[in-house]
Amino acid sequence: MLALARGEVDANGLLPIFAARSPEVAEKCNIMADVQDLFKKIIAHSKEYGFVYPSSEIYEGLGGVYDYGPLGVELKNNIKTYWWKAMVQLHENIVGIDAAIFMHPTTWKASGHVDAFNDPLIDNKTSKKRYRADVLIEDYIKKLEEKIEKQVKKGRKRFGEAFDEEKFRATDGRAVQYAEKIADIEGRLHTAMRDNDLVALRDLIVELEIADPVSGSRDWTEVRQFNLMFSTQLGNIAGEAGKLYLRPETAQGIFVNFLNVLNTTRQRLPFGIAQIGKAFRNEIIARQFIFRMREFEQMEMQFFVKPGTEMEWYNAWKEKRMQWHRALGVPAEKLRFKDHEALAHYANAAVDIEFEFPFGFKELEGIHSRTDYDLRRHEEYSGKKLRYFDPETREHFVPYIIETSIGADRMFLALLSAAYREEEVPDAKGGTATRVVLKLPPALAPVKCAVLPLLKNKPELVDRAKEVFETLKYEFACQYDEKDAIGRRYRRQDAIGTPFCVTIDFVSLEDDTVTIRDRDSLEQVRVKTADVAAFIREKVDWAPLLRAVGASPL
Ligand code: ATP
Repeated sequence: MLALARGEVDANGLLPIFAARSPEVAEKCNIMADVQDLFKKIIAHSKEYGFVYPSSEIYEGLGGVYDYGPLGVELKNNIKTYWWKAMVQLHENIVGIDAAIFMHPTTWKASGHVDAFNDPLIDNKTSKKRYRADVLIEDYIKKLEEKIEKQVKKGRKRFGEAFDEEKFRATDGRAVQYAEKIADIEGRLHTAMRDNDLVALRDLIVELEIADPVSGSRDWTEVRQFNLMFSTQLGNIAGEAGKLYLRPETAQGIFVNFLNVLNTTRQRLPFGIAQIGKAFRNEIIARQFIFRMREFEQMEMQFFVKPGTEMEWYNAWKEKRMQWHRALGVPAEKLRFKDHEALAHYANAAVDIEFEFPFGFKELEGIHSRTDYDLRRHEEYSGKKLRYFDPETREHFVPYIIETSIGADRMFLALLSAAYREEEVPDAKGGTATRVVLKLPPALAPVKCAVLPLLKNKPELVDRAKEVFETLKYEFACQYDEKDAIGRRYRRQDAIGTPFCVTIDFVSLEDDTVTIRDRDSLEQVRVKTADVAAFIREKVDWAPLLRAVGASPL
């Protein structure tokens, strides 16, 4: 880690949580420790300010399940609104639906989930802990990647200004050796996963001498498949026939409604159907907070196109979705595309948009060209024709599908991770203080403005502040706060990401003005009370954000 002054952020916008006491200590600090600490802080902050709580916490919680608190629900709703507006409102050829969570059980046979929605599991006989075999191997790869980064860091120190990172990675003996090993393991992992070769997965774990992270033991069971769907039972039908599944993805609700939408709207190809809703997966290792949950929410859009045009639309949607993320002001280097190396049997192209979470780059959104697989399977299992009639060519055909699929919860975590900062700011006594601030995009912030009388014990200030609050609350999510010194109230609003604090002081009583404090610049401007709503409206409006996303493709 580079030695940073307290409060200074590094190139990734991350704070050195272990405040460097001396350059030597700073040298020893491992960047991984920093980011893990940052992640812990984000989790603690989420709980402390009412964003996210562990589910049923009074009973010690339920693994992989979380509840959203008062501010969390606002932020999550705003994320969903941003997605919905960018998809449905901006595109005349995308319509929304809200399908039920329960679906006819045959849906899941047709989709392949009954037979193939499995994770390869392995148990450690000593600790009795259960793991995903592929994740154990991926974690091993991650350790090798960390070793390469250490080598690079050493190289940078050794060569100073003259350091050529690309050349170093390609020529340094150890870095090259680790990279070759990673390529080999990745290749074997992908082949084993593609071929459903459970023996090969176990062999790899044994060969790499991967030990149980809990017990350190290498006493592993065989690898076996575990279906990730939760099931339940209809009350009026006994046995297998009444077995229902909680949907593991929202997409199938769209596919089975393809004909309904086609027949009841004026949509013609190409057109899309969008949906936001809950999905459930019996994840074996639900971890990393709301990154991997057992109950989560997806925002999915299926775009139906003419066969043969799918790659054009796939590329268009790839760019369009990346633009949606970038429009939020997330630094470009925190987002990247990662092509799938092994394609699912139904896909002819697939890419993830990865975000650099505090624990590294991970999938945030998936974009898939799914061919006509889904509709064909539903044709086969339902016996109904799911075709489109092209009035120009007078042909009937099964459309191809491009899917964009993002988890609302993962997006929530990405936003929090990008927004969380600890900063040194001037305090009232001419010194400095540390503030925690969430630099959320104003349109998505849970609270848009706080109205604060300068002093609580001055009725004339309190009355005027309440008047201002009463006028603003019809338009924006506002908070009125009179408790504690003004500085502490500003800190509280910073910590929840409120972009504007409107303060009523003694000058306000004389000339009917207020001050508006900007969360990020800390600048305060004096504005006529009558102009406050217009000032805030302009800054928190959806329109500039949506214009930055843009409306095509149509
Ligand atoms: P992963 O490889 O991380 O398990 P996936 O490839 O199975 O994800 P998809 O089936 O493509 O994920 O789901 C689309 C999106 O839904 C993901 O990009 C992610 O944002 C979200 N998602 C999937 N599984 C979970 C989960 N268990 N918890 C939270 N979000 C999830």
